[in-house]
Amino acid sequence: MIGEWIAGPVAGKLLNPATEEVLAEVGGGPASIGAALKWARERGGTALRVMTFAERGDMLRTLSRAVHAHRDELIGLAVANGGNTRSDAKFDIDGASGTLAHYADLGAALGATRVLTKGDGTQLGRSPRFWGQHVRVARAGVAVLVNAFNFPAWGIAEKAACALLAGMPILAKPATATAHVAHRLVEIFLATGAVPPGAVQILVGPTGDLLDQLGGQDVLAFTGSSHTARLLRGHARIVAESVHVNVEADSLNAAVLGPDVGPGTPTWDLFVGDVARDITQKTGQKCTAIRRIFVCGERAGAVKEALAERLAAIKVGDPARDEVTMGPLSTAQQRDDVRAGIARLAAEGRAIFGGDGTVAPIGVPSGKGFFVGPVLFEVDSGHDARALHADEVFGPVATVAPCVDAADAGALVRRGGGGLVCSAYSDDRAFLTQLVGEIAPYHGRIYLGSAKVAGQTPGPGTALPQLLHGGPGRAGGGEELGGLVGLGLYMQRTALEGDKALIEAVVKG
Ligand code: NAP
Repeated sequence: MIGEWIAGPVAGKLLNPATEEVLAEVGGGPASIGAALKWARERGGTALRVMTFAERGDMLRTLSRAVHAHRDELIGLAVANGGNTRSDAKFDIDGASGTLAHYADLGAALGATRVLTKGDGTQLGRSPRFWGQHVRVARAGVAVLVNAFNFPAWGIAEKAACALLAGMPILAKPATATAHVAHRLVEIFLATGAVPPGAVQILVGPTGDLLDQLGGQDVLAFTGSSHTARLLRGHARIVAESVHVNVEADSLNAAVLGPDVGPGTPTWDLFVGDVARDITQKTGQKCTAIRRIFVCGERAGAVKEALAERLAAIKVGDPARDEVTMGPLSTAQQRDDVRAGIARLAAEGRAIFGGDGTVAPIGVPSGKGFFVGPVLFEVDSGHDARALHADEVFGPVATVAPCVDAADAGALVRRGGGGLVCSAYSDDRAFLTQLVGEIAPYHGRIYLGSAKVAGQTPGPGTALPQLLHGGPGRAGGGEELGGLVGLGLYMQRTALEGDKALIEAVVKG
């Protein structure tokens, strides 16, 4: 039973969201979940903790290369099961291999050690002999990685890279609707032979009593809606056992255009390109996508015109077709949620592009598929709006609102209640200094779009492994990635106190 794939009772079907064709059946709620956790803790964790950071880095390098070697196959699955265009799918798959490669480099740099030390330690007594040193060591449990439907490859890889490099075994629990890519990704990981038995497992479908079996050495790394986050975070066992929980949830990311930026400048073009990409890439199903656009000064009209022109060029349809540049939403539920969100925004603003999102998709049988076209709203006053700052419409939808200056923009941005990323487009240092001061405590990342970086930035929607991913408040209060910061969740910080020479010997291993 251990080291094998186990089929649970059929609990659902995987669909192609463009055609509604059934692609696979999903099992779930296996009775063997306890055995899987035991296998991870006892075999996987033990094997990983014996490996040095450099050896774990080598393992991640092998996984990264394996993902890259299966790139076309994974892209095909993402197009079929995720509604991704090829370009959307590459964003997910290459994000996975790139993040694994980045953590492979970090493992190599940490070298032949198993303990992370931070700082030089502290003299505690009269002489330097009595010494204190903080260290981080791998937690002795299992890292349960629960992910959202929108990034089935990157979502697993960005959590797995940190957990495995830290020395913790993983049990991945991908979102059911788009699990085809996630399932295949784990098959590919295991087929490399680089992963110790029990170090990597996946549970597709309902979780059964998984949460009831977690304990104080385990980690629950969650990405998804704030509704589910509340359920998991408040679960009696999670609370009672002080299970380490990280939450990456909703975010009403804003873009702010400075009053100094006019049409025809590199900063303007960067702003328009980033916003248009974020509305349509992955059909707007990105946690980092720009939802609110605040335009300082008198240029809201020109912004609306430029964005409408970009959106008019988008071709919605079956993403398997080359000419299509935006696919469907991933599920019927997502489509219904997005339509409801559009109706709420329509009650307080005007659609200046896309109406209610009704669209005639290219290459799709009539009435099939979970399609919503891109929609751009405007409101006269962002201060009077409510839904704009409260409801994350997880689709190709954004709203433009005017603002006066950095203080006004800051007040509007903060209405989002805490976010993953805010982008600010300006070449005016005084404007950016004031805006960053206004909004930094409310965000995990602030992207400064200016003429000097236009042409070399991937835009605010890309979470880079070097930088923090996560945000306070509505965004869940979590922290992922950020280089070695990302290992923190999976490691216990312990203070060693005693003879300096002894501590140095212990740390060296
Ligand atoms: P979701 O419905 O909250 O589901 C997220 C994950 O939780 C899925 O794997 C789901 O499994 C699982 N889940 C649901 N109920 C559970 C339970 N009782 N016990 C254990 N697991 C449970 O979210 P989603 O619809 O997949 O994703 C969309 C949301 O994710 C959006 O709000 C978006 O903003 C957010 N998101 C945030 C980030 C970020 O980094 N901050 C990134 C991506 C997405 P099933 O699929 O089997 O139900």
